[in-house]
Amino acid sequence: MPATPPSDVTPLLAYDRDHVWHPYSSVLSPGHPHFVESASGVRLRIRRPDGSCREAVDAMSSWWCAIHGYAVPELDAAARDQLGRMSHVMFGGLTHAPAIALARRLVDLTPEPLQHVFFADSGSVSVEVAMKMALQLHVAAGRARTRFFTIRGGYHGDTFSPMSVTDPEGGMHLLFNGILPQHVFAPVPPAGIDVGPDDPRMVEWERATSDLFVAHADEIAAVILEPTLQGAGGMRFHSPYAVQLLASLARDHGALVIFDEIATGFGRTGPLWAMERAEVVPDILCVGKALTGGYLTLAAVLCTTTVAEGVSRGEGGGLMHGPTFMANPLACAVALASLDLLEHNDFGRQVAALESGLLEGLSPALWLGSVTDVRVLGGVGVIELDRPADVSAIGAAAIERGVWVRPFRNLVYTMPPYVTSPDDLALLCRGLVESVAQVHG
Ligand code: PMP
Repeated sequence: MPATPPSDVTPLLAYDRDHVWHPYSSVLSPGHPHFVESASGVRLRIRRPDGSCREAVDAMSSWWCAIHGYAVPELDAAARDQLGRMSHVMFGGLTHAPAIALARRLVDLTPEPLQHVFFADSGSVSVEVAMKMALQLHVAAGRARTRFFTIRGGYHGDTFSPMSVTDPEGGMHLLFNGILPQHVFAPVPPAGIDVGPDDPRMVEWERATSDLFVAHADEIAAVILEPTLQGAGGMRFHSPYAVQLLASLARDHGALVIFDEIATGFGRTGPLWAMERAEVVPDILCVGKALTGGYLTLAAVLCTTTVAEGVSRGEGGGLMHGPTFMANPLACAVALASLDLLEHNDFGRQVAALESGLLEGLSPALWLGSVTDVRVLGGVGVIELDRPADVSAIGAAAIERGVWVRPFRNLVYTMPPYVTSPDDLALLCRGLVESVAQVHG
């Protein structure tokens, strides 16, 4: 049966409700997903049950990955071209030009010590792989280090190892009590990108974090964190000093540093990598999401030669991981085209324009009674409420205003496509502010 949508989508939505499980949802009260018929530029075309259509500017970049928007001619062409050659081959015992070219590109785009690339098929799997690398390295060296050190408020994915270093409350640890490994969580760093070492909040955080680390130093395999921006854990910004402190604690005590730039990478916070602000180079780096411009699922783990060789000297004789769709050629080809576009479009200029448009467009939300904070960093804009956001009411109110947004907890936020024009950005910001005002006052 063809998957082309008919004009009456009511039966499809009914089947969806009865049989299709959506993210973080209950089959007993499945919610009402909107039906997307197609997407191009920065707009989703939403078909309603009454047959009418509504176009909505995507404030989410499809969970932060569609940085160039939709139906991008250059990415379409790269996918078509690669389809004509091969869409997939296994990566065990075989290799291919798109993977080699993409590995070279990632090595060139990241700090010099990161020389080895392991391709994974999603962000969560790349975090699994990064954690496994760290553990295998210590095992290979005969060190009994099996715990990870991180900060509260983070998010690293939904599979078990990433979940175990995700915020213990937001990460639903209680649900998996006794199953998840117990790692060590420092407090959330003081909020704000400019908080320096002398700020009393930083002094206090530094003391608490250092004491905690020292108490567990012999057990810690690695520090893992999202530098600068904690995304799905709460859209919080922290300063380069906090990143530097965590990295130096790790280094001083023989632990590795893992940065998760799955959300922050490829320019989202301003610089190509969020770690650039702190000028810290990790031993292991995870990238994903925007890697393929949101076309296909692909992630990568980069590591230093010391890590790669240390793991390889171990008993296993190599890294014990190998997903079926590792280095999928189609995804690698599109990723290369997406990285070309990132450069060609001058992402720094695009994200700077997003930043000033978001600052201007979202600040009126500060006047609303339900709003406690509005913050912006690069292409990330956040409206924080004093209560949980009514996700479906805000989503519906925004669609009426030509905007697609999906809040979580008390956060109505946007990470627009980099190609969003000033007019569309103004429309998007207005849509968010007015929807919050309508639903929460
Ligand atoms: N790490 C971070 C920082 C993320 O934001 C996400 C996804 N939101 C992940 C890991 C997991 O990636 P994926 O959903 O592709 O598994």
